[in-house]
Amino acid sequence: MSVSPGDILRVRLEATTAHPERTANPSASGFPGGRGRAVMELLPYAHLPFDHPDMPLCLFGGPLSGTTVPLCGRSIVAAISPLTGTVFDAQAGGRLAFALAGSGLAGVVVAGRADVPSGLEIVDGQAVLRPCPDWTALGATDIAARLRFPGEVLRTGPAAWTGAALAGVVAGRPGHVLRGGLGLCLAAKNLVYVAVSGSRAVHVADAAGLSLARADLMRLTAASPALAGAHGLSRFGTAALMDLTDSLGMTPTQNFRATRFPGQKAVNAPALARGYAPRRTGCRACHLPCGRMAADGTPLPDLDALSHFTALVDNPDLKTAVAANARCIDLGLDPVSAASVLACHAEISGEPLSPSRLLALVDDMGHGRGLGRELARGAAAYARGAGLPGAAMAVKGLELGAFDPRGAYGLALSYAVSTRGGCHLRAFGISHEVLRKPVATDRFDFAGKARILFQAENVLAALDSLVACPYLTLAASLEELAPALCAATGHPADPGEMARAGERVVYAERIINARRGFAVDQDDLPARFFTEPGTPGEDFAVPPIDRAAFLAARAAYYRIRGLTAAGLPRADTARELGLAWTG
Ligand code: SF4
Repeated sequence: MSVSPGDILRVRLEATTAHPERTANPSASGFPGGRGRAVMELLPYAHLPFDHPDMPLCLFGGPLSGTTVPLCGRSIVAAISPLTGTVFDAQAGGRLAFALAGSGLAGVVVAGRADVPSGLEIVDGQAVLRPCPDWTALGATDIAARLRFPGEVLRTGPAAWTGAALAGVVAGRPGHVLRGGLGLCLAAKNLVYVAVSGSRAVHVADAAGLSLARADLMRLTAASPALAGAHGLSRFGTAALMDLTDSLGMTPTQNFRATRFPGQKAVNAPALARGYAPRRTGCRACHLPCGRMAADGTPLPDLDALSHFTALVDNPDLKTAVAANARCIDLGLDPVSAASVLACHAEISGEPLSPSRLLALVDDMGHGRGLGRELARGAAAYARGAGLPGAAMAVKGLELGAFDPRGAYGLALSYAVSTRGGCHLRAFGISHEVLRKPVATDRFDFAGKARILFQAENVLAALDSLVACPYLTLAASLEELAPALCAATGHPADPGEMARAGERVVYAERIINARRGFAVDQDDLPARFFTEPGTPGEDFAVPPIDRAAFLAARAAYYRIRGLTAAGLPRADTARELGLAWTG
């Protein structure tokens, strides 16, 4: 693959001005956009701290951005994470992908640091820096409202300006939070917001071919029960999965000390629908919108935020969960991590979290006050400071999402080896173990999971590089996306080559992380999962994960991925993938 549509706008923030420069987009990763392009930008800077002025902050759309290909209207924000210390990318909904495509840009790479807190505005590819030193205390909602910008506004909230490692970037409207401390990366560059708009028509090489590829994808997504069915994501939002995970004994409850939540029926997706009569919200170019917003404009929690602000913190009150999630978004605080560190605190201190206490601690985290300041460092740092590191339910510092790994062993392995920390979307293991697609596997068995994980990581890296929504894998894969890529760019696209390019992306991430000191010891799960059982169901048990079986599966994964037994890159594998590793 050698497609390279769209220039890259490189912005150097110096003094109170931006120095933009457009450069061509050679595609070293095999992908001209998204995660694949961003990781190649970050690779030369792997040795630098996240807040070094030369460290890039990357915004990329993909080669399908701005087209009508369904579920491909997303974009990537990537940097080195202050929370995990790893390379980190997050998919954003909202309008960024269309704004970049409408500017004729594949992406924007920002380096340097503004003198004073400022906003970076990019209109049709022209960048201007606008000082706004008084805006650092503003909520993310207020920033978007004051700007009235026609395109996308990626913005911080107060959390980023108090140094919170849990500070996220808020994207879209009403807003969702990109994880990994990316808000702190913006603040390190003295950026309150980055706004992008573009008004050009997007050129595709073969409009008729793209129309055919789109029709195929529309048919397949419409036929997917998980996406479009009566209980699917577009009917109830991602929270639709909460009933299923609970029935399988996989709902993280009381900081993962239990795996079924007794109050689940009062806080699930149908309860949200009854209580809030939600409107559907979603990404552009998506006919299956999975976001939800209350009639008064309040953003409603997605699966991870809803599950964690109820079951994980042992809160049976739906209104409190909705309020906590909305406050997090306005404060620019990652709701999944915020709930997780609160659950960690409740376990360590023994303090039950009443609704008022929970909301007060969220506010304190966002504003850097008292105990909240400690909690906003993240669960791993907080638990270490309290002398009980085992109470942090995180991998590489990233707090786990709404699926307990004791209920799905492929998921357990993918959490452990993920290049960005404990993320279930790196390989989307729940698709085959929980949703039984495309082929059902035994969720309590590691057999074959290392190879499935290797292949799934490569496919997901390819999707992240296009940039396609991971939920698309519930209906289609690279076989259906290759014709769309070919039609959009005019270059041949082969599913096997796309998967190989995804493999290159994952390996480049392993190289970055290895240069930052990550190895086998960090590819692991919290000890609790190997020593304590989950909550059994009527006809099944949720035993602790067998440590020896996990280690054998991880070793198999390392062999298949072409890593050493210590989880480090190998020079020969790197060379085969067109990369370099000197150890
Ligand atoms: S399914 Fe949801 S996350 Fe995926 S593209 Fe559609 S609205 Fe966006």
